[in-house]
Amino acid sequence: MEVSGRTGLLGLIGTPVGHSGSPAMYNYSFELLDMDYKYLAFDIKLDEVANAISAIKTFKMKGANVTMPCKGAVCEYMDELSPAARIIGACNTIVNENGKLTGHITDGQGYVRNLKENGVDVKGKKLTIMGAGGAATAIQVQCALDGAREISIFNKKDDFFQRAEKTVEDIKKEVPNCIVNLYDLDDTEKLYSEISDSDILTNATIVGMKPYENDTNILDTNVFRKDLVVTDVVYNPIKTTMILEAEKAGCKVIGGKGMLLYQGVEAFKLFTGKDMPVKEVKAKYFAE
Ligand code: NAD
Repeated sequence: MEVSGRTGLLGLIGTPVGHSGSPAMYNYSFELLDMDYKYLAFDIKLDEVANAISAIKTFKMKGANVTMPCKGAVCEYMDELSPAARIIGACNTIVNENGKLTGHITDGQGYVRNLKENGVDVKGKKLTIMGAGGAATAIQVQCALDGAREISIFNKKDDFFQRAEKTVEDIKKEVPNCIVNLYDLDDTEKLYSEISDSDILTNATIVGMKPYENDTNILDTNVFRKDLVVTDVVYNPIKTTMILEAEKAGCKVIGGKGMLLYQGVEAFKLFTGKDMPVKEVKAKYFAE
């Protein structure tokens, strides 16, 4: 569809954004659905957030995705926040409805949806989740909101550990039915004993990501039982060392690429009310 006087604008704000796959994924979807929208990436630094939000309103943009380092800073400009965005204090999706801005965070929804598409429901399950950064926090909060029975969080005693302590307090307050625990990732005995009665194990740390693709947080592969679902948020490489070892041990494994796709699918639905043409987008941009 050619750009017209009525073409609606969507975009991505944050920095850097030059490497982002979002413009291609969204514009391809608009083309397939014959929708009169274009999606562009805007390099926005933290001190430019207020101007960027004002531009979203002025240009009557349908909305925007938000990436680092702006995910937290945009929250104060929202008229409303989704439950997960409010608890986490971060947004990756802003929807503009006639000047009213609502902030959402779809990373955790993308994780849960990716599991669902692979036949795994987090409802009623116990998860052991390694990590306390942006991806981990979004997953932990969303799994609690979506009915996980228990979540055991493991993180190194680094700067992120405090964030995990806050996540634990937030989940206890907002989702009191979900049992949530926090342990030191270096306490491997505790890690392995928590995994032994978990349904799902998730790596949401940077371990396993290029150039550390030979690393894994799970050094004892005996923890990989056949009925344990092993998931990783790392998508580069597509199969991390942890995923490869779990797969070899007969576990059901789910990598991080689907989470990346489905956080976009969830945002697309929020922006347009329509379903992204997942099959085509997956085939073109997410082939594994
Ligand atoms: P972050 O910087 O916010 O968090 C980093 C996490 O890694 C923290 O928990 C930190 O404690 C942990 N960590 C760092 N070094 C470690 C080490 N040596 N041993 C153990 N833990 C260590 O990062 P993030 O944005 O949460 O991203 C984490 C990973 O998730 C990255 O690989 C990123 O590419 C991936 N990610 C994937 C998706 C997706 O859609 N699949 C989305 C976001 C992030």
